[in-house]
Amino acid sequence: MTILERPETLAASGKLDRLAEVAVRVGLGLAHGQELVITAPLDALELARRITEHAYRAGASLVTTLLSDDEATLLRFHHAPEESFDKAAVWLHEGLAAAYRGGAARLAIAGGNPALLAAEDPRKVSRANMALSKAMRPALELITRHEINWTIVACATPAWARLVFPDEAETVAMQKLWDAIFAATRIDVPDPVAAWRKHAADLQQRVQFLNGRRFAALHFRGPGTDLRVGLADDHLWSGGGSTARNGIFGMPNMPTEEVFTTPHKDRADGSVKSSKPLSYQGTLIKGIAVRFEGGRVVEASAEEGEDVLRGMLDSDDGARRLGEVALVPHSSPIAQSGLLFWNTLFDENAASHIALGKAYSTCIRQGETLTTDQLAEKGANDSLIHVDWMIGSGEMDVDGVSADNVTEALMRQGEWA
Ligand code: ZN
Ligand code: ZN
Repeated sequence: MTILERPETLAASGKLDRLAEVAVRVGLGLAHGQELVITAPLDALELARRITEHAYRAGASLVTTLLSDDEATLLRFHHAPEESFDKAAVWLHEGLAAAYRGGAARLAIAGGNPALLAAEDPRKVSRANMALSKAMRPALELITRHEINWTIVACATPAWARLVFPDEAETVAMQKLWDAIFAATRIDVPDPVAAWRKHAADLQQRVQFLNGRRFAALHFRGPGTDLRVGLADDHLWSGGGSTARNGIFGMPNMPTEEVFTTPHKDRADGSVKSSKPLSYQGTLIKGIAVRFEGGRVVEASAEEGEDVLRGMLDSDDGARRLGEVALVPHSSPIAQSGLLFWNTLFDENAASHIALGKAYSTCIRQGETLTTDQLAEKGANDSLIHVDWMIGSGEMDVDGVSADNVTEALMRQGEWA
């Protein structure tokens, strides 16, 4: 089943329309007269149209949707010449960066097949990823600096639903995935906008507590994990939405359950194991084990997808260093669903996680005004990539460590202490 074949079911429930409305009002906080760029997989066309309608109703001056086609991506891997895999549509990403510079908001719909490239040549996948990361850099820079309001929401698609619910018929799998998306994005409640305001306030309270503590480091302990992550100088915790440099408050990820900050790129030491598989650019990487020394990954292995993991780590020097550390309680509704979504937007909100690669400069005091060199002096990492992977579980303990080495329990057995 696709949502195009059964639009009446979702239209009747009104939930698809509410998701679109919440994405525009809460996720983007779209301003009257603002332009909007939507990127979406082909199977998310109906949701993209709902969002387009709500954007115009909110006063959008122009909405432009770019659709991507998983089948066309596979055709490239099967038929394109060798040199294709070092190319990316640079002109397209320059155009997107120009749109954002001109004040456009960005909305990405996630929902493509997380395992699309699992059977493809990992060297080709790595090269294509690298070329894409380079092409995306100017636009990504504007996003990580939070120059504009942006958000990501999810749309159930048949290929994704089959992966999450492999034992179900496709129609059942689609319905179950939609139910999970609606629950995680608080569309199920009578007043989703009010529910999101309350949720944002709860996360912001946690952020204020952590910012008040000024921890120098976090210490993670769990099965296969004993990792000390130093935090960047002048780091700021964030969560529950933020105000972009254009003055608009939004919720960059829907769902979101995390509070996160910028680690120091030279101060991670110890070993860490992933607690969930990672879906990276169409490949699944399972059982990641990594050892850090002085902030840098010096040993890395994976039970599955190790080639792609290595390709990712070799993207550039910053790809071996941390750009984010995030705390998520094991009681988060997404963790409690017990589902593995194979999609970072969901899975990263089910477990504490770290990200290799570029840091969010918004998680450094006055970070938006600093140059890349000034950010690096404070410990913020720079890279072409930013890849979150999950390390938390119901067995994870986390301590905050002060500058004079006093520890304080932050999480015990995966829950806030
Ligand atoms: Zn995160
Ligand atoms: Zn992240």
